[in-house]
Amino acid sequence: MILVTRPGILPEEMDEIRERAEALDIRTHVSDLGDRRVIGCVGDEDQIRRLGRTRFAGVEEMRRVDTRWKLASRRFEEERTQVRLGFHDVGGPGLAVIAGPCSLEGREMIHETARAVHAAGAIALRAGVFKPRTSPYGFQGLGQEGLEMLAELRAETGLPIVTEVTDPRQVDAVAECVDVLQIGTRNMYNYDLLKEVGRVQKPVLLKRGFAATIAEFILAAEYVLAQGNPQVILCERGIRTFETMTRNTLDVSAVPVLKRETHLPVIIDPSHAAGDRALVPALALAGVAAGADGLLVEVHPEPDRAFTDGAQSLNFVAFAEMMVSIRAVAEAVGREMLIGGSSLEDS
Ligand code: PEP
Ligand code: MN
Repeated sequence: MILVTRPGILPEEMDEIRERAEALDIRTHVSDLGDRRVIGCVGDEDQIRRLGRTRFAGVEEMRRVDTRWKLASRRFEEERTQVRLGFHDVGGPGLAVIAGPCSLEGREMIHETARAVHAAGAIALRAGVFKPRTSPYGFQGLGQEGLEMLAELRAETGLPIVTEVTDPRQVDAVAECVDVLQIGTRNMYNYDLLKEVGRVQKPVLLKRGFAATIAEFILAAEYVLAQGNPQVILCERGIRTFETMTRNTLDVSAVPVLKRETHLPVIIDPSHAAGDRALVPALALAGVAAGADGLLVEVHPEPDRAFTDGAQSLNFVAFAEMMVSIRAVAEAVGREMLIGGSSLEDS
C-alpha cells in the first residue's frame, strides 16, 4: 500500500504514521513527490489492511498496490535506482560495461585481463571463482584461493570486481573481497541464497533463471530487496527455448519490460545468451539499443584455451573492437559510455 501525504506534512504527523506501521510490523519506505511524501508500506497483508483503515491527519490518499512485487515496483519508487560501482553509477545516464573471464584461472591471466578490459573501457572486472558447472567433473573454479587473488587485484588496482556466490556460507567472505555479488542463472530460485545476499550491504547482480518468467525474476529480486539490500542489478542472460542454433535465446523484450515494471538497473549478458563469440557483438548492440543500462561480457586472453565458456569469450582485440560499436549505438540512443575509474590508468 502507498500513502500519499498532503503538502508540507508535519514531522509529528509522519511519526504517527511510522509508529502505527511499526506497531503492525509493517516496513515503511519514504520518498518525495514534489512537496508531498510517498510512504510505501510492506508487510503482512492483513496488517496492511488494518493500517489502511486508520485515519491519519497528514494523509491525503491511500492506494492499494496491486502488484506481486512491491519494493521492486516503479509504483513504489518512481526514481530509478542507481547502483554505485567504483566511480560510476549503474542505472544512471551512462552505459556500464563489465567484462572479464568466465573463470579466474590464475594470477597472471586475471591481471592481464583486468588491464585489457579496463583499457578498452570496462568499468569493472568479472571473474568466477565458484563455478556452478552442469557436470560435477567440470572445472569448479579456484574457490578460496581465487577469491584471495581477486581481493589482491582489487586492492592493487581499485578496479571494481564482480564474482558469483553459489552458497549462503560463502556470502560474507565474498562480500569482503569483491564489490558485487553475482547470483547465477541456476540459483535465481535459491531463496535462501537470495535472502543471504539481501542481508549484506553490497550490490547484487542477479541473473534471470534460464527458464524463469520475467515475473519470477522480479520476485527473486524482491527477495533481496525485502531483506534490506536495495542495490540490485537485473541481468538478462538468455532463456532456454526450442532454438538450438544459439546456447540460449536473448530475450531483448525483457529489457523494456523490466524497466517499465521496476526501478532497478537492467543489464544484458550477450555471452551466455549467444554461446558463440561471433554472435556476441550483435546481441550486445541489440541490448544497448533496447535500453539496457550495461553489459556483462566474457573476455579471455586466449579463448580457445579457456577452462570454461571459451566458445563464447572474446579475445582482447575483439572486445576492444566491439566497444567501439557499442559506444556508437549508446550515443545514438542518448547515452554516454562510462569509462575509467581505477589506478590502472597510471600503470
Ligand atoms: C557466468 O556468468 O559465468 C555464469 C555461470 O552465468 P549464468 O549463471 O548466466 O550461466
Ligand atoms: Mn560463463
